[in-house]
Amino acid sequence: MSAEAPPARHWLLAEKRAPLPPPGRGHRPFRKLFHLLCFLVFLVLPFSNLMRFDIPRQRFFFAGFEVLISEFSILFFALMFLMFVIAVVAIMYGRVYCGYACPQMIFSEASTAVEAWAARMAQKWTAQPAARKALGKGLFLAILAVASVFLAFVFMAYFIEPRDLLGRLARFDLASVGGIMGASVTLVTFLDFSLVKQTFCTTVCPYGYMQGMLQDKHSLLVAYQDPANACIDCRKCVRVCEMGIDIRKGPYQIECVHCGDCIDACDEVLAKVGHPGLIHYSWGGSVAAAAKEPWYRRWGFRDPKRFVILFVMVAYLTALGLTLWLRKPVLMRLTPDRTTLFTVLPDGSVANRVRMNLANRSPKPVQIRIWVEGLPGARVVLDPNPLTLAPGAALERSFDIAAPAGDRELNPIRVVFQSSDRGASDAAEMNFFMPTRRN
Ligand code: SF4
Ligand code: SF4
Repeated sequence: MSAEAPPARHWLLAEKRAPLPPPGRGHRPFRKLFHLLCFLVFLVLPFSNLMRFDIPRQRFFFAGFEVLISEFSILFFALMFLMFVIAVVAIMYGRVYCGYACPQMIFSEASTAVEAWAARMAQKWTAQPAARKALGKGLFLAILAVASVFLAFVFMAYFIEPRDLLGRLARFDLASVGGIMGASVTLVTFLDFSLVKQTFCTTVCPYGYMQGMLQDKHSLLVAYQDPANACIDCRKCVRVCEMGIDIRKGPYQIECVHCGDCIDACDEVLAKVGHPGLIHYSWGGSVAAAAKEPWYRRWGFRDPKRFVILFVMVAYLTALGLTLWLRKPVLMRLTPDRTTLFTVLPDGSVANRVRMNLANRSPKPVQIRIWVEGLPGARVVLDPNPLTLAPGAALERSFDIAAPAGDRELNPIRVVFQSSDRGASDAAEMNFFMPTRRN
């Protein structure tokens, strides 16, 4: 075997890792830690309202903001940003998302681990093979059934308010749409993680297919490189692969989710004979050459396209941040109704009609008061004033502004409206029409 350059252990930390780490220290422990982190994020998001789509109330909760479904710009920028996050990750890092952060992969691997644990437990309890098999399977399915209810509950909490959902679960509600959906998600989860698991990733997963379209020659790969014919054909890299492939057949296999388990396996086997592993995360070239590249190339910025797509992603994130920052919790809009310019009231005063649109996007009720400035004696004919708007309520209504008849046909006025939500106020400038005075 030739004395090849030591392998870079991780494409981000290439120069910092030891060339041959002790067995058991590799990508897998890091990946499992990342799985745990993703699982915690999955749990926390809906219960903290950091991200949640409340379908019954038609609200979108995002980063602490409560957004109405009708607030198109926020939803648009949020969806475009998420779409570009997926595109950037897919173009730069291939299917790393699948191996490290996808819930399907995380729960499939967890399910396989629980199944193996249940089989080991059964082995301790009985020596009879048929009973052992039945006991192991039964234990696994019982645990999976409980886990499916829990996972389905968390998943449904992204779409239905968690307390409402808990009430439905406690009542064993199978009559409402929410209850039926919850039961269906539980069943699908159970079947998925007992029968389908990673088969989903290699057959119907849309991200997997999209990845094939987005990937180019600069995307991150898991590649087998063996210029010195050092492979001892132990097949450990094949045995550990949860996707059931042999990475030695080529790096462009659609099933590969870039988990890195085969890298760890090969490193471990060949470390015993003092040779570096033959499988690596790679940008296409040799691993030794990649380790000497500047940091931005090792982080995946290998051509201008990467910078452009990252720039677009950051632009959408900035637009989203700005939209949220400029967002008014109470929307107030007034426009003059010019169907008739003015009407003369029985008491001789003049009225102009105004149309108002109000929307309370905040989570609490607000009071809105309206008054007129710039025309002596002018008043708002609106009952009640202030008016109360419930959370999420919208109101479209017309009212009159009345003023004593005057000399001028055109009178600039300011209609001010103020909400009880932090005293926010706005004003609409318009002309108040009076009849022409005949001498
Ligand atoms: S080939 Fe290696 S990196 Fe790809 S899925 Fe299998 S174990 Fe993971
Ligand atoms: S683990 Fe390494 S040495 Fe063993 S078969 Fe795979 S590539 Fe060859």
